Amino acid sequence: MATETQRRRGRCPRHGTVEATRDVPAVTFPWLYHWVRRTMAERREPFRCPECGAPVD
Ligand SMILES: [Zn+2]
Repeated sequence: MATETQRRRGRCPRHGTVEATRDVPAVTFPWLYHWVRRTMAERREPFRCPECGAPVD
């Protein structure tokens, strides 16, 4: 399953402002199927600190 890394600035409780990342399914054929999976992953999966893996705000 192809994945795509999303990045966003976030605030880690231990490391302050970090470039947080999360992996979500990439949208490839069949488009609708992967789009639904990705939307669900985006709801479920928080952005995480690259240093400690804690969810960031
Ligand atoms: Zn951290």
